[in-house]
Amino acid sequence: MSTFSAPKGTYDLIPPDSSVFLAVREAISTPLKRAGYGYIETPGFEAVELFARGVGESTDIVTKEMYTLTTKGGDELALRPEGTASVLRAALEANLHKLGNLPVKLWYSGSYYRYERPQKGRYRHFSQVGAEALGTEDPALDAELIILAFDAYRSLGLRNFRLLLNSLGDKECRPVYRAALQEFLRALDLDEETRRRVEINPLRVLDDKREAVQKQLVGAPMMRDHLCEACKSYHEQVRELLTAAGVAFEDDPKLVRGLDYYTRTTFEFVHDGLGSQSAVGGGGRYDGLSEMIGGPALPSVGWALGVDRTVLALKAEGIELELPAHTDVFAVPLGEEARRALFSLVTELRRQGVATDFAYGGKGLKNAMKSANRSGARFAVVAGERDLAEGTVQLKDLESGEQSAVALDALVDTVRERLSDSPST
Ligand code: AMP
Repeated sequence: MSTFSAPKGTYDLIPPDSSVFLAVREAISTPLKRAGYGYIETPGFEAVELFARGVGESTDIVTKEMYTLTTKGGDELALRPEGTASVLRAALEANLHKLGNLPVKLWYSGSYYRYERPQKGRYRHFSQVGAEALGTEDPALDAELIILAFDAYRSLGLRNFRLLLNSLGDKECRPVYRAALQEFLRALDLDEETRRRVEINPLRVLDDKREAVQKQLVGAPMMRDHLCEACKSYHEQVRELLTAAGVAFEDDPKLVRGLDYYTRTTFEFVHDGLGSQSAVGGGGRYDGLSEMIGGPALPSVGWALGVDRTVLALKAEGIELELPAHTDVFAVPLGEEARRALFSLVTELRRQGVATDFAYGGKGLKNAMKSANRSGARFAVVAGERDLAEGTVQLKDLESGEQSAVALDALVDTVRERLSDSPST
């Protein structure tokens, strides 16, 4: 223990659990790469104004949860609370949308920051993998993204998750619905803050988790009953494409999500083993966002999946990922001369692509073999002066216990052959 500990609401990723995080990031990004999404990385901080305009002035993220700072040069910056606004900003800045190949498909992976009340599954520093498809309005694109997220969860072995789906309408039908909803909400018995929300962003009142509010929402007008023909047909096509792909979903007319920029398709993946922080990922279409941050009209769709909560979901389902072994070979030198010879061998094995570790610190045979076993290595290479004088080393299979002498100059090939014959898990 040092004088310091990780800041409130954060935690450190350390082995062996950290390898599960890497595997989750990999599992989420693999289907994206296969579908033509290119990797993008943006700064960890942006102008506060980007999020204020992009995410929405009235959202909790902007009003309560942003880590903001003023630089010595006077710039107002915020640690990024989400990825979409930054990715769109970067794509517009690089003119990716003008290269003639729409949609621009991008994926990202990184850390995000929200000053939230910490609890299990809700942290102040968390990790997301996200995907955005910019510049195209096509129900197949919405369906593609949802299918890719679904396939990513499935590839991890997850089963107990559900997909909630809704349409928030567009600039034609949403304002009409908004007015109808406001009229309904104004007649309710709501606290001061919620009343304010009714005026600024009434749809988000539907998302209020408090029972006292939910009770009063019975009979509230629903977006699905106000969708214009174009939105209705668009949504129907998304639903059909998902069904054809074997992706089950539940229609959730109250799903509005916490960010202001969504239009038409919105969705959320929830996991039933996570308690109150059950959303493992979510996203939707955001046709107006580009204009909100000063760009051209660029209808787009995207999602972000939470890595931390996906790891918790794996735990909740008791899933142990089959992670590749960290070490294939563990070298154990007996004596000073062997130390030098085996160290060279270790370097050679690594250069040949074999994951190899070494008994450092002049350990005795017994301790060194303990380390070899603990490393999870498939083979131990043991050598003393006598072996080296004969130009050999002892190759011990740590699974079967068999041991044989192998010529020093044949070791790399022998190890590679035997590893590929029976790859360890
Ligand atoms: P959002 O940008 O709020 O739609 O979040 C997308 C996903 O990121 C959620 O479904 C969560 O899995 C994850 N996430 C959001 N906020 C947090 C947080 N404070 N701690 C951990 N994960 C989070």
